Amino acid sequence: MEHLERDPAGGPRNGRGHRGDDLRRLNTAAVMKHVFGHPGLSRSEIAAQLGLSAASVTNIASALLEAGLLLALPSSAGGQGRPRIPLEINAKNPLVLGIHLGPRTSGVVLMGLDGLEQASVLVPHAGKGAGESIDLVVAAAEVLVDGHARGRQLLGTGIATGGIVDRPAGVIIDNPGAGWHDVHVMELLRGRLPAPVILENNARAAAQSELLYGHGRQSNDFVLMVITADIGSVMVDDGRIRAGFSQTAGQIAHLRVSDRQVPCPCGKTGCLAVMGSDDAVTAEARRRGLGQVQHIEHVLELALAGNEAAISVLEQRNRYVGRAASQLIDIHDPELLVVAGTPAETPAVFASLLAEVSRTAHAGAGAAGRVVLSSDHVFSLSLFAASTMVDAILADPLGHAVPEVLPAT
Ligand SMILES: [Zn+2]
Repeated sequence: MEHLERDPAGGPRNGRGHRGDDLRRLNTAAVMKHVFGHPGLSRSEIAAQLGLSAASVTNIASALLEAGLLLALPSSAGGQGRPRIPLEINAKNPLVLGIHLGPRTSGVVLMGLDGLEQASVLVPHAGKGAGESIDLVVAAAEVLVDGHARGRQLLGTGIATGGIVDRPAGVIIDNPGAGWHDVHVMELLRGRLPAPVILENNARAAAQSELLYGHGRQSNDFVLMVITADIGSVMVDDGRIRAGFSQTAGQIAHLRVSDRQVPCPCGKTGCLAVMGSDDAVTAEARRRGLGQVQHIEHVLELALAGNEAAISVLEQRNRYVGRAASQLIDIHDPELLVVAGTPAETPAVFASLLAEVSRTAHAGAGAAGRVVLSSDHVFSLSLFAASTMVDAILADPLGHAVPEVLPAT
């Protein structure tokens, strides 16, 4: 709401050129975001809550309804003789494309503005270079769009990948997991996917999803930790994701969380990367006699089935994550610290993480009260990628709505 400008006169302002256009765009975004966050309000309720004139909101709502971005629900009785017509986001017609460019397999999804998957496909490309992998992903996306998006608006594409990403430039600077360096994704893609296209880093895409569809509905001040095979963190300050001066904020993988002399590729020992990642959990499980486990899902399955060694390994991992969480809370003082990734899939052992935060945070036992698991218990990077596009649409809805719709077949 920080950009909202009030328009006491109502309606468009005359003779102000771009200023009037900018005001209208800001107010349109404010109405769109308000309906997104508070579905079921009427135009007059929105006007009252945003401090806009009823005429202004009526004009904006008409434009958003015409663009297919909002839906008017069946009217209910109003208090002033006029019918009260609740508005909500049109979750089923406009779609966004989401792509997670993974190191060996990529995911492509068509998602509604409600954050739910409409259709998806996985694209294996192990052993292939960045250019060839992107070609395979584009081909799969075309098939998915042809099969599922006919007759609907496709408002753009969000792409997420691991490592260091320069979002404004559309470049993967360094994705060590995939072995990709200096990949100019936007140039490779030029015109081949529904525009506009956003390229973002996995962790920031996860934070964007949390902001739109998860804990962000209650708090716009949080730090998100992503704990999977990759480890990172993202700071959300007053609803804005902070990427950092050189786009590399949130590198927590090499925080020291143990005195054990476990070597890390960075040259130090006891880093979160080698104590708390999915691979570290799998290796520790094998060390403790669970020789059959190949990857993290096996450990999670065993823990859910009550295997004590698997539970103990996950509790130990949560203690390492808890030590890093304590440092983040002490440095940033967020309202919430959200833990996403595989720890969110085993809430039964979450208490070990909280206990470690209570024990190690300088802020003390109260700090643990701010730590929550992600509301996206299943980590779906292609949906998170799509949510970056939804954020762009909410910020400028009419700038994204396109009149051209693929003909229905
Ligand atoms: Zn390290």
